[in-house]
Amino acid sequence: MEWGLASGVWNLWAPGVWEPPPAAPTELEIDIIEAVAATLAQTQVCGECAARLSRHVRIVPCASSAAATGTWCLLLATGCLGWRHHGNIAVVTPGPADLEFGPFRSR
Ligand SMILES: [Zn+2]
Repeated sequence: MEWGLASGVWNLWAPGVWEPPPAAPTELEIDIIEAVAATLAQTQVCGECAARLSRHVRIVPCASSAAATGTWCLLLATGCLGWRHHGNIAVVTPGPADLEFGPFRSR
């Protein structure tokens, strides 16, 4: 039975199997990041004014991580729902076994 998952997904299920992280996220990883980003933003507050964060999150590549670490890095950018609409950013990177989402920080 075909499950339609990318072959890299199975590394997550095989204990003890580890490959170096790829230089770019897979389509499945981007789908997961998009789904998790909105939920993650809704559970955190702005570091400047403590207002809730908007669930509308833009995903953009990090500027320098690929050259420095040989792997990918994405920024999750959103604004707070306070009247100043402070920008808040979180970093997503591939971890040893799963995606690693950093906390949103005001910029
Ligand atoms: Zn704010």
